[in-house]
Amino acid sequence: MAHDQNCIFCKIINGEVPSAKVFENDDVYAFLDLSQVTKGHTLVIPKDHQANIFELQEETAAKLFSVVPKIARAVRDAFQPLGLNLMNNNGKEAEQTVFHYHVHIIPRYGKEDGYK
Ligand code: 5GP
Ligand code: ZN
Repeated sequence: MAHDQNCIFCKIINGEVPSAKVFENDDVYAFLDLSQVTKGHTLVIPKDHQANIFELQEETAAKLFSVVPKIARAVRDAFQPLGLNLMNNNGKEAEQTVFHYHVHIIPRYGKEDGYK
């Protein structure tokens, strides 16, 4: 499995940097985003280091997205949002700041949830 020793998400996967775990299996890790844009904001990442959608391998994508519905339902059950958005930034100009592929799960609580 590819690992980048300078990557903050690789450090989270191997436990060097603490995180609030939401889900884990052999290939995927999910944890609460440090900066909660809404309550329950979660990141889903492959354990294999791939920078973004332009590098993401099909097999890695399949493994990751096969557990996204389960994680989304767990977030829904824990935080009781009215809905949620899936979001993914790819490239600096598209607001990607961490270059280890990740999907944001952003729970939505109605007009006043502070997330535009
Ligand atoms: P991006 O802007 O690349 O789509 O999202 C990166 C996300 O990673 C941001 O929402 C940021 O808050 C989150 N993040 C960055 N460093 C850490 C960290 O050390 N721990 C956690 N839990 N989230 C982080
Ligand atoms: Zn990484």
